[in-house]
Amino acid sequence: MTDLKKFEVWFVTGSQDLYGEETLKQVAAHSEEIAAFLNNASQIPVRVVFKPTVKSTEEIFAICQEANVAPNVIGIITWMHTFSPAKMWITGLRALQKPIAHLHTQYNRDIPWATIDMDFMNLNQSAHGDRETGFMMSRMKINRKVVVGHWQDPEVLDQLNGWARAAAGWNDWQGARFVRFGDNMRYVAVTDGDKVEAELKFGFSVNTHGIGDLVAVINQISDAEVDQLTAEYEARYAVVDVLRKGGARYSSLRDAAKIELGLKAFLEAGNYKGFSDTFEDLHGMKQLPGIAAQRLMNQGYGFAGEGDWKTAALVRAMKVMGSGLKGGNAFMEDYTYHFDPSNPLVLGSHMLEICESIADGQAKCEIHPLGIGGKEDPVRLVFNVAAGPAINASMVDMGNRFRLIVNEVEAVAPENDLPKLPVARVLWKPYPDMKTGCAAWILAGGAHHTCYSQNLTSEHMEAFSDMAGVEYVKIGKNTDLYSLKNELRWSDVYYQINKA
Ligand code: MN
Repeated sequence: MTDLKKFEVWFVTGSQDLYGEETLKQVAAHSEEIAAFLNNASQIPVRVVFKPTVKSTEEIFAICQEANVAPNVIGIITWMHTFSPAKMWITGLRALQKPIAHLHTQYNRDIPWATIDMDFMNLNQSAHGDRETGFMMSRMKINRKVVVGHWQDPEVLDQLNGWARAAAGWNDWQGARFVRFGDNMRYVAVTDGDKVEAELKFGFSVNTHGIGDLVAVINQISDAEVDQLTAEYEARYAVVDVLRKGGARYSSLRDAAKIELGLKAFLEAGNYKGFSDTFEDLHGMKQLPGIAAQRLMNQGYGFAGEGDWKTAALVRAMKVMGSGLKGGNAFMEDYTYHFDPSNPLVLGSHMLEICESIADGQAKCEIHPLGIGGKEDPVRLVFNVAAGPAINASMVDMGNRFRLIVNEVEAVAPENDLPKLPVARVLWKPYPDMKTGCAAWILAGGAHHTCYSQNLTSEHMEAFSDMAGVEYVKIGKNTDLYSLKNELRWSDVYYQINKA
């Protein structure tokens, strides 16, 4: 979806004038070589740009200011080849508004046993130079990713990859616009939240349009455009006969296509990156958008149902983070359980709107009644989802802060046909196990709405939460409820003391 190569991270090496010209020349040459290696590494999704060594308060401040205003720069990688006294970093770090990865590396991998002398020691000092920087960032309470290892180590590249992807998602939120058609589903708590605080904290805005504004755009879509899109549906999906051209319900497929075209036109005109709707406010629409939401998500738009703008925004950010990776990211809901003790499972789905990006094989295009909403039967894509590791992520508003909750899960292939289930679905086992995973989620206040990701890990989400400065709760293989309950209590105190 997003070409991450349009983004840059700057490779900034710190030092000081004390070392003299010869050493600084070597520092610059080594840094340039490392930056070029990272830039060319297939694991790194963004461009890595070498910057001249910074050696003073003024130079560090200048590079931070420059990074702040450069629109394509999504973060900086810092490294101290030598020692860089960290009081020089205070002014710059205080000004810096972009994410930091602190690469704790060393130019040489191995100690040259036979030749090592004091000149070598003075040049290759990151083992203590980076500790000085680390102290300052910790004292200033700056969230950052610390990556340790030789710069050619595949694990180092993986970690920088994850951090850069999180930074791309974070960058995408800055100035992003999301639109809600109608308000929150009546009386529902977890999908609601403080949109002002979200804009302050996350950088995206959420604004509402009455459904009539959307209907007016839908009504302007021409028959020719609808012809074209329904033909695309018939070519791309296994469309049931009644919905095909000449079928008894072909007009419903046309209505669905018209809704998709209208929604897309509205989103493009308003420069929106995602949307939410609600089945309780569909005045003038024939169907709840089903296939439209599924396909627009697949094109990169964030979406969540029932007015859930937090999940819509999260789906968008995670789609950006996963750009170019195999697998997809979709709006999801924990729907129903299989409590068989030998094989407990969660069935995830929604009334309609699971993103096509996670479909296993060709989706079926079907029409079925929807029990709620009082509208005509909506057209939807029906599919299974492949087995494999995945995560569910949920952003909730705890009143004085946002909390990002992530559960690592293992999706399993359905063992049985589900011939009467008229929606896309996925089956998974939560980690560490069904009972602990679900109890942890409920104790943490995680929503029933999530973003389900096949191509991101909890490590991406942890980096993302650090960039956003929000509480992060990971439920994974090592979660135990006693520790989790304490973590939640202690975090409560932490966020009372450390207000935004
Ligand atoms: Mn829902």
